[in-house]
Amino acid sequence: MSRNDGREPNELRPTAMTPGFMRTATGSALIEQGGTRVICTASAQEGVPRWMTGKGRGWVTAEYGMLPASTGDRKQRDVSKGRPDGRTVEIQRLIGRALRGVVDFQALGERTVYLDCDVLEADGGTRCASITGAYVALHLALQKLVDDGALESVPLNEAVAAVSVGMVDGTPMLDLDYSEDSTAEVDMNVVMTGDGGLVEVQATAERTPLTRASLDDLLALAAAGIERLRDAQQAALAAPVA
Ligand code: UDP
Repeated sequence: MSRNDGREPNELRPTAMTPGFMRTATGSALIEQGGTRVICTASAQEGVPRWMTGKGRGWVTAEYGMLPASTGDRKQRDVSKGRPDGRTVEIQRLIGRALRGVVDFQALGERTVYLDCDVLEADGGTRCASITGAYVALHLALQKLVDDGALESVPLNEAVAAVSVGMVDGTPMLDLDYSEDSTAEVDMNVVMTGDGGLVEVQATAERTPLTRASLDDLLALAAAGIERLRDAQQAALAAPVA
């Protein structure tokens, strides 16, 4: 069954990563996955939140936002509404957990890295693209600390990336765009490390309950997609930063 953009069910959208997209951040990357585009920055600062001081360990935290014009209908800024929406809070906590899962905090020392993921254009899968892009930004920021002599080596235990999968018209599909996401019977976000370890799986069967066998099919599809995203991350990290 071919998809509306002509992809095979097991195909990722065209993916591009531009490392060093923002020169003002310690590390940054623009990630483009089909019509979804997200700027990810990593800003390193000395010190950790007060509840963590004196333990010799670092911290990583994340924020996520969508630009007002990133969707067809203008999305009001949180600052104009006076409160963050629940979706934003849920997504930024997911990004933070995913990236913290691969950081060696003892080796990072008492430093905080702020990850900021800002969606320029949203066409589905923005939380997954944020995680995949934030890993590149974080790696570049930590490499900068190594280059500056603040760290001996990059304190990351593994790579991490994420992708969405779902059941659309009974077919397991990789990397859903908005049109697929909004009609999927099952929608799943999978976060995995570079060596295939599961960090987080969020699956929602809003229409048809998911069978155990389909869950396995979807996880296998996600694992293959994440392997390709990891290759793209490695290529971005090997490229000279502008
Ligand atoms: N979306 C939107 N406005 C919103 C929230 C979502 O237009 O306020 C669209 C956008 O294209 C997004 C998609 O719906 O990528 C799917 O949203 P979801 O909450 O599932 O998160 P995502 O798939 O982006 O991680």
